[in-house]
Amino acid sequence: MRVLITGAAGFLGSHLTDRFLAEGHEVVGMDNLITGSRENLAHLQHERRFQFVFHDVSRYIQVEGPLDGVLHFASPASPIDYLELPIQTLKVGSLGTHNALGVAKAKGARFFLASTSEVYGDPQVHPQPESYWGHVNPVGPRGVYDEAKRFAEAMTMAYHRYHGVDTRIIRIFNTYGPRMRARDGRVVSNFIVQALKGEPLTVYGEGQQTRSFCYVSDLVDGIYRLFMSTHVEPTNIGNPHEFTVQQLAERVLALTGSKAPIERRPLPTDDPKVRQPDITKARTLLGWEPKVLLDEGLQRTIAYFREHLD
Ligand code: UDP
Repeated sequence: MRVLITGAAGFLGSHLTDRFLAEGHEVVGMDNLITGSRENLAHLQHERRFQFVFHDVSRYIQVEGPLDGVLHFASPASPIDYLELPIQTLKVGSLGTHNALGVAKAKGARFFLASTSEVYGDPQVHPQPESYWGHVNPVGPRGVYDEAKRFAEAMTMAYHRYHGVDTRIIRIFNTYGPRMRARDGRVVSNFIVQALKGEPLTVYGEGQQTRSFCYVSDLVDGIYRLFMSTHVEPTNIGNPHEFTVQQLAERVLALTGSKAPIERRPLPTDDPKVRQPDITKARTLLGWEPKVLLDEGLQRTIAYFREHLD
């Protein structure tokens, strides 16, 4: 197969690129590098089956040659990023998704949308099954991401229903691992970098809010299986093992051996209080299940950040 991956220089896009290449496919990777980094793809410099195209997918996308798949992963994805880049976040989720769907339609390629657990907002159903419609504040600071992704899902289903495009939608829950940026702003990278530098770990609010953290190799395996499946409806992929943010801070301190203190900071607006994927569907339909335990994944991520502190 020959596939287009938007956001290929990002954390998930670059791991996904590696997986498609490892499976013997060809990859065209597209990125405008506003949150992605060429360094994530540096190891592919001499890979003949990989081609990098510098482009903002919110503008018309042109790709030479045939394509069998279009995987739309371009978007700022950290709350800090979409607070700093609200318009770009809205544009890549809406215009970018429209353009990427247009490419898939024109090439007769399968389309794969990277959606998010954020479509559930601050959820009132716990854990979250795909059938839950969510609880999102459209005008809050996170609305730019949540609503763009909800629009992207609607657009994807419209292209499926009205243009007959073969589509898939994944709802990705919190994922971590090597190639996250040190200054990404997300909780796992923040805590690890702070612990390694001996700086205070910034726990927002009381730290009693929960998240369920999936190691990147598990997530990428879920993506690949869903891409290869025939399942059109949205599918949750994430690790259902749920922790409080305070517990995460304590694990990071234990695993790094850091003596850094924990400091409380104000809880950001609309920060979801709980989050845990119901993965019954992924288990049943894809035979998929996460394998990497939090401590093991954190250890691998800590090893990466020891080499990549700026
Ligand atoms: N968080 C925190 N300290 C940090 C960064 C994040 O306590 O330095 C909290 C944040 O308030 C949220 C959780 O960790 O409750 C996960 O935040 P993240 O930005 O990783 O992603 P989210 O799941 O909110 O999209």
